[in-house]
Amino acid sequence: MSELHEVVIIGSGPAGYTAAIYTARANLKPVLIQGMQPGGQLTITTDVENFPGYPDGVMGPQMMEDLRKQAERFGTDIRFDMVTEVDLSSRPFTLKTQMGEELQAKAVIVSTGASAKLLGLEAETRLMGHGVSACATCDGAFFPDKEVLVVGGGDSAMEEANYLTRFASKVTVVHRRDEFRASKIMVDRARKNPKIAWELFQQVSDIHAGDDGKVSHVTLTDTRDGSTRELTCDGVFVAIGHTPNTEVFRGKLDLDDKGYVTVTPGRSYTSVEGVFACGDVMDAIYRQAVTAAGSGCMAAIDCERWLEEQEA
Ligand code: NAP
Repeated sequence: MSELHEVVIIGSGPAGYTAAIYTARANLKPVLIQGMQPGGQLTITTDVENFPGYPDGVMGPQMMEDLRKQAERFGTDIRFDMVTEVDLSSRPFTLKTQMGEELQAKAVIVSTGASAKLLGLEAETRLMGHGVSACATCDGAFFPDKEVLVVGGGDSAMEEANYLTRFASKVTVVHRRDEFRASKIMVDRARKNPKIAWELFQQVSDIHAGDDGKVSHVTLTDTRDGSTRELTCDGVFVAIGHTPNTEVFRGKLDLDDKGYVTVTPGRSYTSVEGVFACGDVMDAIYRQAVTAAGSGCMAAIDCERWLEEQEA
C-alpha cells in the first residue's frame, strides 16, 4: 500500500527546504525527498556572501545543514531518496522512488533545481575525476601547486577561478568571448588575482591525458579564426552554467524550450493543478539562494491555500 500525504516536496535546495519549513509550520506534515545531491548546489559552493542575514558570509554546506535542521524542527519527514517516476494525470498524484517506495500526494512541490552543464566532449566524461571536474569546491584541494583551467565567463567561472587559487599555482580562465556574463565585482576580483591568467576567444575543443591517465593538456580553438593550439594543464574545471533537473517531469508538466518548468507569472502554479514549482527548476533568470528560498515560500503558501480550497 502506498502512503497518502498532504504534500510531497521534491528536492532539497533552499527552495525545497523553505517550502518544507512553511508547509510543516502549516501542519501539512510534508515529506521531502532530497534527491541525489542533498542540499543541492550550495553544498558544492564555498562562501555565500549575498544571503541576507549573514554579515560575515556563510559556507554553502553550513547554510544547507541549517535549513535542513530548521525544516526538521517543524516535523518535515526528510528522506534520502530520489523520485524516478511521477503520475500527475490524476489526484492524488503518485510518485515512485529509486528505493522502491510509492507515495501518494494531494499536492506536490517541485524544487529539483538545476545541474552543472558540460562541454559535451567525449574526453570530458572519460576524464571526469581524473583531472576534469564541474565543482571546484569538491575537487580543488586535489590540485596543490598545479596548473588548472576554468572554462566559462559567468559568476561561477570567476568564483571557481578565485577559489582554485587557494590550491593551484596558476589558474587560467578560458572563455569563448572577451565579454563576461559575470558581475563586474566578480570579474574585477579575478582580474586582481595575480595567480589568474586569461585565454579569451578560446574554446576547449579537446582534453588529453598523459600516460598516467590524468589530464595533461587541452586543445584550444580560437573562436575568431578556428585556429588550434595545445595548452598544458593538470586540471579542467567546467563552469558554464546549468540545466534544470526536469527529466522526470517531461511530458507531465509544461516546460519551456530550455526545459525549465513554466509557472503562472508571479505565482508557483504549474500546468497541473495541485503541482507547484519553485527555485532554480523554474527560474532561469535570478538563480540565487535567496530568490529560491523566496519562491519556496510562495509555493508553500500557494499549496497550503489550494489544499484548503479543496477541503472547503
Ligand atoms: P552563466 O551566467 O549562464 O554563464 C555561463 C558561462 O559559460 C558564459 O560565460 C557562457 O559563455 C559560458 N558557456 C556556456 N556554454 C558554453 C560552452 N558550451 N562552451 C564554452 N563556454 C560556454 O552561468 P553561471 O556562471 O553558472 O551563473 C549562473 C547564475 O548563478 C548567474 O545568475 C550568476 O550570477 C549566479 N551565480 C552567482 C554567484 C555569486 O554571486 N557568488 C556565483 C555563481 C553563480 P557566453 O557568455 O559566451 O554565453
